[in-house]
Amino acid sequence: MDFRFTPEQGEFRESVRRFAEKHLAHGARERAHAAEYPWDVAKLMAAQGLLGITIAEADGGQGGTLLDAVIAIEAVAAVCPRSADVVQAGSFGPIRVLAEYGTPPQKERYLKRLLAGEGVISVGMTEPEAGSAVTDLTTAATPDGAGFRVNGSKVFTTHAPYADVILAYVRFGPGVGGIGSVLIDAKAPGVRFGKRSKFMSGEEWAQLYFEDVFVPPEMVVLKEGGFKKQIAGFNVERIGNTARSLALGRYAYEAARQWAMQRKQFGRLLCEFQGLQWKFAEMKMKLDAGQLLLYRAATNADRGFPSAEETAIAKAFCNQAGFEVANDALQVMGGLGYSQEELVEYCVRRCRGWMIAGGSIEILKNRIAEAVFERTFSQRPDNA
Ligand SMILES: Cc1cc2nc3c(=O)[nH]c(=O)nc-3n(C[C@H](O)[C@H](O)[C@H](O)COP(=O)(O)OP(=O)(O)OC[C@H]3O[C@@H](n4cnc5c(N)ncnc54)[C@H](O)[C@@H]3O)c2cc1C
Repeated sequence: MDFRFTPEQGEFRESVRRFAEKHLAHGARERAHAAEYPWDVAKLMAAQGLLGITIAEADGGQGGTLLDAVIAIEAVAAVCPRSADVVQAGSFGPIRVLAEYGTPPQKERYLKRLLAGEGVISVGMTEPEAGSAVTDLTTAATPDGAGFRVNGSKVFTTHAPYADVILAYVRFGPGVGGIGSVLIDAKAPGVRFGKRSKFMSGEEWAQLYFEDVFVPPEMVVLKEGGFKKQIAGFNVERIGNTARSLALGRYAYEAARQWAMQRKQFGRLLCEFQGLQWKFAEMKMKLDAGQLLLYRAATNADRGFPSAEETAIAKAFCNQAGFEVANDALQVMGGLGYSQEELVEYCVRRCRGWMIAGGSIEILKNRIAEAVFERTFSQRPDNA
């Protein structure tokens, strides 16, 4: 067992870090408070080869590993936390599902733009009545000629207000086996957005309505029986959420560490108070432990797809750790930490969301418990 990066990984991390210092350090605070997607960063990253890290070269990506993409998130977030979202959008989640299961025409139509940093893809799973119980989704794809008519609604869809395309989970038939996915162009007739709203993080979301949206047969990604594959792809997205949780926790920790070495109260540096030293020791323990769980899940990924169990353990731990560390860092920085002059409060707000998004901590713990007891536990009432 070797806990060090290979020379290539180390070099990659340094090159991303240099890129981030040069292009992203300036404006990091403004980016965090802007609601819109940082398209300028996306284009810069495309030129630098930081989009499509996990996507095959034949598809226009970099042909790297999941760990490479995690390294990129960490190196970028250490300089500009908000820009880590662009790495996420370019290498994890729905773009990865599209690259893995999409047909050549689907990739031709969308992947090029996404990898050029000119567009983003959203994943629409969550519905008003199907959150944690995602397999209760009711958005229906009913046959219409050679294609399908899609009717239903999605909520909390990240990037939806400006996405090119939505990878929508739909129901072709009853039960879990009836779930598949289609690509819906955000400008297709029948796609409607509800009132815009904001998360605590500042990110915008709007309820999405699909009203008799026609989906031609060539835009079906996975038909009935596709749910398992979709969730395998979704575990990649979860690794991105895990990496960002930890990276933003680390960003806040580093800001607080620097502050504790220069801020004096009662005539002493903050770092000289034992009450704060122990806080830092605990932050460091959480960050290091989370890092190992994250790297284990990413390194063991089979053809880029991490195991459900290792992903659940890493995500639940890092979501909690990232939030707690960022929150403690804020406390250490006092009024300045709570102020928007620093990015620490932003890190707290962002980390809070990942405790819910992409499988809440509770749902992940349910999954871990199933691994512990080597059996499933239905969450439904006995008579369901
Ligand atoms: C920042 C952010 C970004 C998001 N981005 C997307 C996106 O891009 N695409 C998308 O489709 N969705 C997205 N979501 C939605 C997200 O996946 C859901 O919010 C999440 O699955 C929880 O669903 P819910 O909000 O309906 O909560 P509920 O399912 O109503 O759960 C409420 C609470 O009960 C707990 N709970 C529920 N069931 C159980 C159980 N069996 N055991 C124990 N506890 C339980 C949950 O953990 C939660 O704490 C995003 C959410 C956030 C916050």
